Formats: sequence, C-alpha cells, structure tokens
Amino acid sequence: MDLFKTHVNAFFGKKEPWQVATITASSTLLLVWLYQFVSQEQSITERLKKKFFKLVRYVPSVRRKIESEFENIQKTFEDDMMKYGDEMGYIVKLPEDGWHRKDILKKIDDYLELGHYKWDEGFVSGAVYNFDSKINELVTKVYGKTAYTNPLHPDIFPGICKMEAEVIRMVAHLFNGNSNACGSITTGGTESILLACKAYRDYGREVNGIEKPNMVIPVTAHSAFDKAAQYFGITVKTVKLDPKTYQVDLKAMERAINKNTIMLVGSAPNYPYGVMDDIEKIAKLARKYRIPLHVDACLGGFLVAFMKRAGYPLPKFDFSVKGVTSISCDPHKYGFTPKGSSIILYADKEYRHHQYTVTVNWPGGIYGSPTISGSRAGANVATTWACLLYHGFDGYVETTKAIVDTAKYIESKLRNVDGIFIYGTPVTSVIAMGSKVFDIFRLSDSMNQKGWNLNTLQYPSGMHICVTLMHTKDGVADNFIKDVETFVKEIMKDPGKPVEGKMAIYGVSQTIPDRSIVGDFTRLFLDSLYFTPKKPKKLSKSGGSKLEKFSSIDNQAESTDVTLMNE
Ligand SMILES: *Cc1c(COP(=O)(O)O)cnc(C)c1O
Repeated sequence: MDLFKTHVNAFFGKKEPWQVATITASSTLLLVWLYQFVSQEQSITERLKKKFFKLVRYVPSVRRKIESEFENIQKTFEDDMMKYGDEMGYIVKLPEDGWHRKDILKKIDDYLELGHYKWDEGFVSGAVYNFDSKINELVTKVYGKTAYTNPLHPDIFPGICKMEAEVIRMVAHLFNGNSNACGSITTGGTESILLACKAYRDYGREVNGIEKPNMVIPVTAHSAFDKAAQYFGITVKTVKLDPKTYQVDLKAMERAINKNTIMLVGSAPNYPYGVMDDIEKIAKLARKYRIPLHVDACLGGFLVAFMKRAGYPLPKFDFSVKGVTSISCDPHKYGFTPKGSSIILYADKEYRHHQYTVTVNWPGGIYGSPTISGSRAGANVATTWACLLYHGFDGYVETTKAIVDTAKYIESKLRNVDGIFIYGTPVTSVIAMGSKVFDIFRLSDSMNQKGWNLNTLQYPSGMHICVTLMHTKDGVADNFIKDVETFVKEIMKDPGKPVEGKMAIYGVSQTIPDRSIVGDFTRLFLDSLYFTPKKPKKLSKSGGSKLEKFSSIDNQAESTDVTLMNE
C-alpha cells in the first residue's frame, strides 16, 4: 500500500489540481470503455468486421453499386409478386358500399387459386401437415361457435379458459410432466420460444442477478431463438455441431457456458436436419451449472410423443429427464390443428411466473396477461382442444406411424442414390440431403421446376423434405423418390456444372462476407410481400380472365343481394 502511495504521489507530485482531476476522470472513462469493449460476448474480430463493412459502405462508388443492386433486386421481388394477381387488380381502399357475402366468398376462391404449388397433393415440404375434409369441417364449426370469444376475459368466457387448462394438462401428460407442470397456449412455435426466453431472462435477472444475459444454443436451433434475443436484449452463443452426428457438440456447449448464461437449448428434433440433440447429456450440463434447459419440440412434438407406441423408440427428451425445464410443441404442425396454435410447457410454476407480464399502476386497471398478446383468439384454444380430442392418443399414434414409416422409406431409398448423402440420422420426418460431387442447389432447382416445393439449407448447402401426412398418400413418396433419382442421374453426367437461375443467388448469398447486405436483401423481400403497384388496376367485381367463369354467378349474386337486404 505504501509503495502504491509513493508511486501515485510521484506521478501526480508536480501536477496542478485541475490536471490531477482531468487525468483521473479521463483514465477512468477509458478503463470503463475498454472494459465494455472487451467484455462483450461478440468476439472482437466479429465486431471489427462489422465496423469495417459499415465503413466500406460509405465509399461513394461502393454505395452507388450497392444501391443500384438493391433497386434491381427490389424490382425482381416485386415482379415476382405481381405475377400473382396483377391481372386481377388490387383493392387499395374500402369500397363505398360493403360487398355482398357471396362476392366475398367467390373472391376468396380466386385469391386462393393464385399459388401454383399443388400443396394438397403432397408436392410441398412441411407447411400443411394434413388436409382432411372431416377435420376441416369440425374445426370450421368449432371456429364458428367460438370466433368472438377471448380468454383475456375469463369472467365472460370461463369455458374457453377451462379448455386451455385442459389442453395444457393433456399435453403436459404427453411429455411426462408431473403435477407441477404447467404452461400456456400461444399463437405459434415462435411465440412459445419467445416466451421461454423472456421467462428465463427475467428468472436469470431476478433470481441470479444476471444483467447481461446470454443463451447457449446449437447452431441448428430455430431462428425464433435469435428473434427472442433481438427482442429481449439477450446475446446468442451458437454452438457448433458434431460433424458426424449433426447433434450439438457437447464439449463446445460446455465451453460456451458462463456466469451470464440464462438458458441452454436442445431440439427434438431440429428443423434443418431433423436430428435430435442428445437431450440427456445437455440436461446433465444444465444440472451441473444450474441453468434452465429448453427443449424445442415445436416441429416434432406431436410425433416424438407417440414414437414409442408407433414402434420407433427414442432416447429420452421430455420432462422425464431431470434438468429439462421447458418444452415447446406445436399442435399446428403434427397435431393437425389450424395455424395459430402452439404450447409452451414448464416443469414448474416458478418459471411460468416469469413469463407473465403484469402492470399494476395503469389507470385502465391492474393488467396481467400470460402471453405476448393481450386479447387472444378463443377460437384457437377451442380448435386445438377439439383437434386433440378428435384424434385421441391412438389417432396420433396412427398418424405418427404413417408419417415415420414414409420418412424412413424415403430415407432408405435416398441413401442408395449415387451422388447425394443424408445429413446425420433423421429421427422423425425431416430428411436433409447434400452432395459432395455437385451443387445440391441444381437438384433443388430441377425438383422445383417439376412442381416440388422443398426447403433450402445453407452452411453447408443442402435441401430437405419435411414429410407430412400429405406424403403418406399412395404414390406420393415413390413419385418424389423417382424424381430425385432421375434428376441426380442427369446431373451426375456433368457434376461440375454451376447452378443457374434463382438458386444461384441463394448459393452466392452464402459467400457474401458482409451479412448485413444479405439482411438488407431479405428486408426488400419482406417489403415485396406488401407490394401493391403505384397505379393499380382496379379489382373489378367480375373482371380478370380467371374471374370470367364466375360471371354468371355474379349475376346471381346481384339478385341474391336484394333478397339478403330483405332478410
Ligand atoms: C416450426 C418450428 C418452430 C417455430 O414455429 P412457428 O410455429 O413457425 O413459429 C420452432 N422450432 C422448430 C424446430 C420448428 O420447426
């Protein structure tokens, strides 16, 4: 201490008081800045790279080039959207007089005709998991009865709340939750994941005093975790995969954990490869470091829960594993409910409390809401409840068996196709392909031209099919296999040929080091979804080539209009 004093006095000895003050203040500020710079989760090289690309964009020639590229891309996206429905015209303001309901229903059919993929014949990966006229009739009726209900008002609609409570109990039971298990119905997998992340952020802060939260997740974890991180100010630490199994690398996961880690994640299974992480081993880490563990079973929840009974036993992945603190699973995927239905489950009420949002000083009253929405569609609760009861345990065992049988069949056939390989070991319904000899996007492109809508993967390049009940129908799987075989054979005649067309853009985008540019492209794409032309053709009530065939109905509609007014 004396030595320290001598040194400091020697340093400041000849300085004037104002100098002492200034030096002290500025060096403290510098230290704080340095500490903040070094202590950020994102690596210094990563941040320097970002800074560099940002600076490069200030160079006028670079900026002009990028801007003109953006204009081209925007035009391409917009033309792509125009291709659907420009002919029909656009509605851009409210009609003076309300439309007749017959006209509305007819127009809906026209709009639904716009897409060209035959999703109802099994040409599409994932997206629509089943389309069954009986279920459709049931959910339409249930929706009709409950369309105006709202669980935000439990005093007015206690029956809807009862349904939600029952759905949670049924699903918690499927995942081996005990009587402490609890949860909420949400609008989709993304909301379920957002809520788990929100709950753990607040739990981390309030119980463990974590102010700079991070989550440690496999690179394959769904992008909803990244969304949650962006929304809630959490840093994402992604963990690489084991190159053989495509499961998360557990050693790397352990290294990524630090005192600010609020949650770990494993997928059962993941979206890109349909591979299930080793949940039991991740849970071991979770217990060792006392960190909550979320298991994302959004995609495969309504398969994995029935696999054992369907004849495909799996390693443990649910609440029977000590350390698993929450599970997300989506009825609107393999539960075959209409879209807008997911479940977030917790092993314990303590976590769910941190999910809630409570405002106690608002002049509008004390306001507590369990999920992200305020008002919620009671009809989503009711249709979910109805679908679960309609299928029952055996019903889901049957659909699971049909789907997994088909997926295994496709997988086994694809493994024999010379030139492609399968990523890891698919456990449920997703089968991902890659190639070491040709650009796999050429296969994507060919399949697409044949009417298949599959999903593209990057880092590394790949494509996958997510098998649904639509693919279990006679001939669909064989048709798919035959097309893959034929195209791969064709491609293998000249495996070095580069990919052309749209898929080339996808390939190139992976090689753009400035990811913020890829982000900007993506924003333009999203813009194009909201596109209407500056001078839109008016949507005529009977105009447009596709609509002409309805003109006779149109006349009918006019006459019914009168009748209805008199009703
Ligand atoms: C679909 C999916 C989600 C997100 O679900 P949404 O309902 O699309 O929001 C999350 N995780 C996995 C593995 C998924 O496949």
